[in-house]
Amino acid sequence: MNTSTKGTTLSGEIASLDQENDRRKRLWIELAAKTDASSAPASVLNELKIFYGGRGIWVDKATTQGVAGCEYGITVGLLHSGAAYADDLFDDGAIYHYPKTRTLGRDRAEIEATKAAGRHRVPLFFTIVPQRGQNRVVKLAWVEKWDDELGLFFISFGDQPDQTQADDEIDEDDFVLTVSRSAEERRVNRPKRAARFKYDVLQYYGESRCCMCGIRASQLLDAAHIVDVSAGGSDDKRNGLILCASHHRAYDAKLVVIHPETHVLLAASELTLEDLGILSSSLAALPRKPHVKALSWRWDRWQARNELDRRVTYDSPAITG
Ligand SMILES: [Zn+2]
Repeated sequence: MNTSTKGTTLSGEIASLDQENDRRKRLWIELAAKTDASSAPASVLNELKIFYGGRGIWVDKATTQGVAGCEYGITVGLLHSGAAYADDLFDDGAIYHYPKTRTLGRDRAEIEATKAAGRHRVPLFFTIVPQRGQNRVVKLAWVEKWDDELGLFFISFGDQPDQTQADDEIDEDDFVLTVSRSAEERRVNRPKRAARFKYDVLQYYGESRCCMCGIRASQLLDAAHIVDVSAGGSDDKRNGLILCASHHRAYDAKLVVIHPETHVLLAASELTLEDLGILSSSLAALPRKPHVKALSWRWDRWQARNELDRRVTYDSPAITG
């Protein structure tokens, strides 16, 4: 039996992974005892070392370096300053951007330490600063996935890591068009797992840009459902497109559609692609394509709507007599 003093590194020993896990769970309980995690003063977070320092990633190297052989330590806290990348913060989690500062070595070390939290399934504390100087919102969080090309982590919120680890393999026969959705999801036309969906769609296409106009500013990018959530559209990445806010709106308003076979973009009858600020005439350049079944679903509805428009315009009694 192990008789060493568990959970302490006072003797200078490196904690085991279990000890570090326990320490974080205890910190979460201590935080709840001291304050409300949805409105925590920065001083309490500093005191508990849940978040500390002036950067976005807090590793607490003195405590975590060497745990489970992690040379760079294991990230303890991530800071999300409400304003930057506000669109990457959702109820179920967040898409966290790799640090890009002038101190490259430190950026790399922090990225490695954050990956270590993912690899070892150790929880961390995700701290949101709603506005400068305000109390923090702290969430227990898990590093689920990351993508070096995109420079993004997918972080889930909750007491447990996300159990529904989506298969990253792409199986053509395994596509699900619709699922059962809660009344709330249908009403707001937004999935419960919005962070996971956006991350998966970004990763699937491998680029962080609007597929219609090429805008890259991530603050302006959405993961749009091809089959709407309100219609039960699934969170399969192939039911998604990366669109800027304007083109997401245009797509949902049926001002533009994608041909399911040729991937050519077509504007609604009264408009041109140019009118809509759409620079590509098709999605041919996308390295991977949305699922044909999803595109066909939209296409059928678009046809029906255009059919209706024509009837309203040409078949109305006032015109036909
Ligand atoms: Zn766009």
